This record gives sequence, structure tokens and C-alpha cells, in this order.
Amino acid sequence: MLNPIPAMIALFAAGNPLTAPWTGPFGGVPHFDKVKVQDMKPALEAAMSEQLAEVEQIARRPDAPTFENTIAAMERGGRSFDRVTTYYGVWSSTMNGPEFQAVEREMAPSLAAFGDQITQNERLFARIAAVYESRDQARLTPEQKRLAWLYYTNFVRAGARLDATAKKRLSEINQRLASLYTSFSQNVLADETDYVHVLETEEDLKGLPDSLRAAASAAAESRGHKGRWAVLNTRSSVDPFLTYSERRDLREKVWRSFVNRGDNGDARDNNKTITEILALRAERAKLLGYETHAHWRLENAMARTPERAMQLLEAVWRPAVARVQEEVADMQAIADREGAQTTIEPWDYRFYAEKVRKAKYDLDANEVKPYLQLEKLREGMFWVAEQLLGLRFSPLTGIVTYHPDVRVWEVKDVSGRHVGLWYFDPYARPGKRSGAWMNAYRNQERFAGEVATIVSNNSNFVKGREGEPVLISWTDAETLFHEFGHALHGLSSSVSYPSLAGTQVARDYVEFPSQLLEHWLSTPQVLNRFALHHQTGQPIPKELVAKIERAATFNQGFATTEYLASALIDMRLHLAGGRTLDPDAFERETLAALGMPKQIVMRHRTPHFSHVFAGDGYSAGYYSYLWSDTLTADAYEAFSEAGGPYDTAVAKRLRDHVFAVGNTVDPADGYRAFRGREAGIAALMRKRGFPAP
Ligand SMILES: [Zn+2]
Repeated sequence: MLNPIPAMIALFAAGNPLTAPWTGPFGGVPHFDKVKVQDMKPALEAAMSEQLAEVEQIARRPDAPTFENTIAAMERGGRSFDRVTTYYGVWSSTMNGPEFQAVEREMAPSLAAFGDQITQNERLFARIAAVYESRDQARLTPEQKRLAWLYYTNFVRAGARLDATAKKRLSEINQRLASLYTSFSQNVLADETDYVHVLETEEDLKGLPDSLRAAASAAAESRGHKGRWAVLNTRSSVDPFLTYSERRDLREKVWRSFVNRGDNGDARDNNKTITEILALRAERAKLLGYETHAHWRLENAMARTPERAMQLLEAVWRPAVARVQEEVADMQAIADREGAQTTIEPWDYRFYAEKVRKAKYDLDANEVKPYLQLEKLREGMFWVAEQLLGLRFSPLTGIVTYHPDVRVWEVKDVSGRHVGLWYFDPYARPGKRSGAWMNAYRNQERFAGEVATIVSNNSNFVKGREGEPVLISWTDAETLFHEFGHALHGLSSSVSYPSLAGTQVARDYVEFPSQLLEHWLSTPQVLNRFALHHQTGQPIPKELVAKIERAATFNQGFATTEYLASALIDMRLHLAGGRTLDPDAFERETLAALGMPKQIVMRHRTPHFSHVFAGDGYSAGYYSYLWSDTLTADAYEAFSEAGGPYDTAVAKRLRDHVFAVGNTVDPADGYRAFRGREAGIAALMRKRGFPAP
């Protein structure tokens, strides 16, 4: 039964194009051409009012609560809000600028308060609780039971059972946190954009390959230093410089400004913000009845408890650090042989690691790059999607996007049924955040009629000149496949209710499908067909592929240790409870106690750890990448044990129990159904080249 929206509510949203239903083909597509930043605030406000009115209508129904009139009714609602937050999210991450930042600062607390208004609605919660408690008598489908459980759990975890005073305090905390998250991330962004190292002379460029020199020249020009070269204070600019620059003094300078983002004792220093965030999170956890923020966060993750997550991190820590010692010894030997008269410092690691790679594996990253054309690899991903999941991609024209660089593909299954759209936004530009990510503009659902998903992949490749292929590094190619894995997770979704669709699974499970897809890049089937030399069209030579394979676990000491240090600090900070923390001192003392190798720094130091302090998302959750990788490594071995990476029976189990089910089943059950058993740590250790426990 449909719950018609009264005319009065429809009026709220009238006239603002950002809340308007999507029209056009494929069940409607986003109207990106209608977006104006000045419309964001009124649109968000209208959409929030509309949804609050819908919620109130459900809460005040006179009839007895049922799944249909309460939970399904909630699933039907909030559609204007979904649409406007899709635009808001796209602008926040890819079209950001001063005008939008002002809107973000203003709206962050209101959006937090809006969420609380819904979860603190007592009549609504009473109905949800009634549906949840009678779920076994009500003849619900397993998916409906899971959704009732999810609603009930989310409401309880957000404080639905607290008294009025506690609820009020909770909402104050959430609003204050939202403002702190916004200033944290705007401070990091400012430290990344404002510090620029200008290189003045040829001498400053010593060691840099041509492609890096060209990028540095373009970066300088864009910052008003035409005719010189610049290293920006971002990972994609800093890491290659640290890898190739022969100027040790400049490496140290560049390294220092990068690792001190948010930690310079100036107006943009994040330390006080972090102290306040941690105190508020600890207070909130106590209010909600949990020992610490980490206990609250992990309760409904696959790990369940901080102890289980810590157990995994600590099991890998020792072997990783032991490997670092070996790596440092290899590097020191080369430095000594070259007469460098230095001991390896953090700003030397990437530089000497590259030399070790060449010496040990005869593998030069610059030798691989000419075979990695972005568009060919994209075709390779499409080919993998068809082999593994039966999805076919075909390009579309005439679909409105928010930037001319964005392209759209239609996705169908093997029977020719439309399953969704894939938007691809590959290139860096000002106002786009760094890194790579996937998001869903619309979730798949079918409980009130078939609705196909719309997903997007975003990355920051440097756009080539017209007609020239864009060449990317091996790591970037892995990232491309990774994000495409998230997209396929969304596109494979086959569930009834939108809240359970696609990638909306536990945080420590969501990286599993994406990390898994990375493995198909290095399959001979992909490399032979799609890793083609940009000039000769020849496939990548077998000897080069063999070298890549032999070097697969190279530098894993470094990569695992820099990651683990961040994951351990994240967890320890959130297990520390309510005491007032000095983030710098805490970081220093904890790392010392752990025995952090002095040649390595955390991948994300606390003052710019955006995963953890730009929002709640990955707080006490950075361990998730390793947790997921445990599953990834074990799952890929399921293919190796069978007929190889394209084994159809294993692929079918993967689709049926992992990619298609979204959050309709418990992730541990889904994994067991796919693998026939639970994942252990052994495959993970093999994948990283560490001795098995
Ligand atoms: Zn990911």
C-alpha cells in the first residue's frame, strides 16, 4: 500500500530544481545542468522539512505498526533529500570551491541535527521497535527481517532509547562534531593547497624523469610560477618526488611539509580540534552506554569488538616490522656502495627502495608505464566484469553530466536487462579532492517497482593532450580496478529495499569486493589483451610481467607498517576513553611503545588523518582495510584452488553470495556461503610475503 504524500508537503520542494524528481531515460538521471550552488541551502532545507513531515506522518499513524506501514514507508520516503544530497556530495568532492565551502560550513550542523530529529522521534521509534520485536510472528521475508533489525539497531545506536536530557546533549555533541569535522578537513585542504615548493633551477630537478618534470612545470604554471617547477603538498605530487629526486635536502624539505599538514602551530593547526573531537566522541559513547567510541563503532562491524580488530593488527605488526629491518638493510647496502655516507631516514625510503627494486628484480616502473593506457585498461575492466559477473558496458551519449570530462556507460546483464549506469570522472582538476573513490547517485531497489542503480567512479589522473593516450602507473592501475570493484558491487546489487543495496555493508567488509577486483589486473588474460604499448600496440612482454609478479611482495614491510601504524593509533586514540589527550604526544609515545621503525612515518599522521577526523566514517575503523584484505587474500585463493581467476563456478558463488546480496545477509554468513568456511590469516600473510603464523 502506498503512503501518498499530502499536497502541502509537495509544496515545500516546489520550484527548486535540486529536489525535483529525475526525468529522462533509465528511470530518470540526475539533472546536473540545473545545479547552482546558491540553490543548495534552500534545497537541503526544503528536503529536510519534507522528510520530517513524512516521518511525522508515519509516526502518528493511528493503525497498529506493521513492516509495511512503518519500515517500508520509511524506505519510500526521503527521496527529495536523497536527490539533493547526491548533488551536494558530487559538488563537495569534485566541484568544490570557496562558495560551496561556505554552504558546507553552514549546513554541517543542520544536517547532523536533522538526523537526530528522526532517530529521536519517540513515536516513530516505538513503531520500529514493535515491528522488530514481532518480526518472527509477522511472516516477514529474511530480507524484511534484516531491514527491521537494521532500523531498530541504527535507532538504538543513535540514542533512541535515551531520556530527553541525554538526547538533547547527544544532539549538541553531534552538531558540534559536524562543525569540527568540517574545519578539520578544510584545514587539511588548505595545508595541501597553500604550501608549494617551487624548484628554481635545473639542479633542483636532478633525478626526476621527464613525465615528472612536465607535471612539475604544469603545476608551477597553475600556481603563477610560469617557467619554473613546483612540487605540490599532496600525495600524488610528493610520493613521486621522494622516489626520484636525487636532492636529499629537497626530499627532506618536501617530506617535512607533507607529514606536518595540520600540525604547524598556526591558525590551521588541527591538534586542539582533535582533542575536542576525541573528548566529545568519548562522552557520546558513554551516553549511549558503551565503554569507548571504539566499542560503539565496532559493535555492528564484522569485527564486533576492538579487541578482535586489535588482535589482527598486532598479529601482522611484528612480521611487518621485521621485514622493514630487512628492507632498510638492503637500502643501506646500496647507499654505502654508492658512497652516500648517510643512514636511511624517512625521506630516503622511497628513493632507495626504487634502487633496490631495480637491483633485486630488474624492474623499472618507467618501463611498465608505456603499456598502461587508461582507456585500454578501462576496456580491460569491462571485459573482467563480463567474465566474472556477466555485466556488459556500452557507452552512452546525450546524458547530462556536471563536467565535460565525465562520461557515462549503460550496464546490462547477459540477458540484456538494464541494470544501471556508470559515470566515469577520471581527471584531476581544481576543486576535486585527491585520491579515488566510488559513490552511488541512486541505489538499486525493487520493493515498489524496479529501480536501477546509478554509480560513479572518480580518480585524479592527469589529463593528456588531445588525442594522446593517458599513461598511468601500476599502482594507479590497481586503484582503478579497486574503485571499479566498488562500482561492480553496486551494479550487481539485487535486493528489494534501497537501504540494504549495493555497498551499504559493514565498513570492514566493504573493501573486500574492491580489493578483490585488483587481483584481475595482473591476470595474463587482461595484460595480453589490454596492456598494450601506446606506440607499437604490442602487448606487455612476458618477461616484464614475470618481473612484476616476482616483485609482488616487494616493499611490503614499508607499505604494511606505515598503514598499521595509522590503524593502531586510530584504535588506541579511541580506546583511550574520556581523558584529555595531546594528539602529538600520544602519537609519539604510542609509536615508541610499539617499536615503530625510525625510518618510517605513519601513512596518515593524526593531525591530517581525514579518514578518522573529517567524519565518523572510518573512526576506529582504519583497521577495516586489513580486515577486508584478510577476506580478499583468502577469497582469491578460492579461484587459484579451482580453475584459476576466471573459474565460472567460483565466480558464480562470488556473485550470488557477495556482490549481489548487499546488506541483506550478515557478512560473515555471506562469506561462509561463498567460501564454505571462514577466512583465516594465512592467505593474507602469503599475499604480503610474510611468514605464516
Ligand atoms: Zn575502497
